[in-house]
Amino acid sequence: MDDATLKLGSVTITESTVSVVFEKTAKVIEPRGYVAIDTNERGLDLATSKGELLKYDLSELPRLHHVYFEKRRAIQRKFWGNRRKSQMLQVRYRERERHRAEQLMHRVSKSVVEKAKESSFGIVLKDIKHIRSLVNRKVLAVNKFNGKIQWISVCSKRLKRRLNSWPFRELQSFIEYKARWEGISIIYVNPRGTSQTCPICGYVVKPNGQLFKCPKCGWVMDRHLNAAINMLKLKMNGWWFAYNSPSRVAVISPLNKAMSRRGEGALHRSTLEDSPEPLR
Ligand SMILES: [Zn+2]
Repeated sequence: MDDATLKLGSVTITESTVSVVFEKTAKVIEPRGYVAIDTNERGLDLATSKGELLKYDLSELPRLHHVYFEKRRAIQRKFWGNRRKSQMLQVRYRERERHRAEQLMHRVSKSVVEKAKESSFGIVLKDIKHIRSLVNRKVLAVNKFNGKIQWISVCSKRLKRRLNSWPFRELQSFIEYKARWEGISIIYVNPRGTSQTCPICGYVVKPNGQLFKCPKCGWVMDRHLNAAINMLKLKMNGWWFAYNSPSRVAVISPLNKAMSRRGEGALHRSTLEDSPEPLR
């Protein structure tokens, strides 16, 4: 609060909270390069202009949602005769879940923004406005149980629950406002095709499991990192990048206690199976 660049905005007082809004006019730094971030169900995958590849593991998030989903279901079962109690407990557990998920996302977004700041990089994010409508898409089809033509979901109930509970947009907005605060520029790109295109020769092929393998030039890369590299390429026109296919990529887990203290994760290594020798 001693920061001279801060201006006091408004103060809002509710029954249980006091919010003080500070304003800051941040000067946008001209980026010296970019960090491209692929947000996916397993976490964040980063590719930077320096040639770094990084994975942030957020597999804890879907696990958390699953655990709390089961908890709420158990409450419904246990208190089915007591609606008031059941609803009260469900609200409490929903808040607890949100709190824990937000903590994780704050930790990861902070680390990402610090990474961009230390090299004066801009941040490239996926434009994912339409992801929800894609997941919840319905088509007219014959209902095989009653023979009628009805609107039927393309994705299964389970897949919809899994993808709708994954806070893509929220995580991106955390990154965005933390970056704006530091004067880091944010660019949105259309993610279409980024996970299916070879960044070396442009060949389009569907990734096989977790790995992207190009049958034309032999490029092998984790599919999410591949998407991040392609996003970076969209921004870096005419720039030839120096990535190899590394057999080892650093994975950062936000669950590591050291991360919350120092604002960064302790690195542990993961091996991409059957990656070949570096290509070029
Ligand atoms: Zn290729």
